Amino acid sequence: MKIVRNTTKIESRVLRSLLCKVHAHMTKLERRKAPNWKNLRIKIGNRSKGGYRGWAYYYGKGPGGWDVHLSLPGDATERGFGWLVYHELMHTYGYRHNEYGNIPDRELEALFPDNKTIGIPVAVKAKAKRAPAGEFPIKIRMTARTVEELSSAEYGSYEDWLNDDRKPTDYNGGRTCHTVEILERHKTVLEIRDETELKEVFWAVSTGLFSEYCPGAADRLYGELARHTEAIKEAK
Ligand SMILES: [Zn+2]
Repeated sequence: MKIVRNTTKIESRVLRSLLCKVHAHMTKLERRKAPNWKNLRIKIGNRSKGGYRGWAYYYGKGPGGWDVHLSLPGDATERGFGWLVYHELMHTYGYRHNEYGNIPDRELEALFPDNKTIGIPVAVKAKAKRAPAGEFPIKIRMTARTVEELSSAEYGSYEDWLNDDRKPTDYNGGRTCHTVEILERHKTVLEIRDETELKEVFWAVSTGLFSEYCPGAADRLYGELARHTEAIKEAK
């Protein structure tokens, strides 16, 4: 099986391991692998609205560049994805809709007991030692992946800012520093050195694409930044 195209924000290796988990379960039930599993070409993308959707060619042999197409909402969960994979892989076994039922809930629950939102790591460790609110430098622990996500969500505006010769303009939101550069300081820590930087990162987290890509992580980070912002306001 090969993921021939992945336009979601979820790493292919994460999707691949979930696909294999469902297929292993089906292999046990069917006592055989999906007929074309070895060469199966899977395309995965996001849907801007709505839930899970998929298409699969019977026996997993498409006439074009793919055999199975999976389409996910931005906040896909393990069980949601697992449900869809099972449904589409059944077609690659050759089954039509009137020949099988969808995966029973209890099987789905056993496969994915945590039912995590996929590809979205925890941004701020709940027990990370928290700096006193409002004291610089503020250091917030993040996963490497969340750092990467926030940086890529901000990359477009960073390019605009560079093109404006780093001057604050209306067009670039009046930025005097940029989140992308602040994130470059460390791999898994967000280090904010002063109030201007705090404002900048707060703005990026609360208004950018990041909150669409990683709503859970964005919420936690937002909460942490709000705590510092409030403390600074109170101190004045
Ligand atoms: Zn179907």
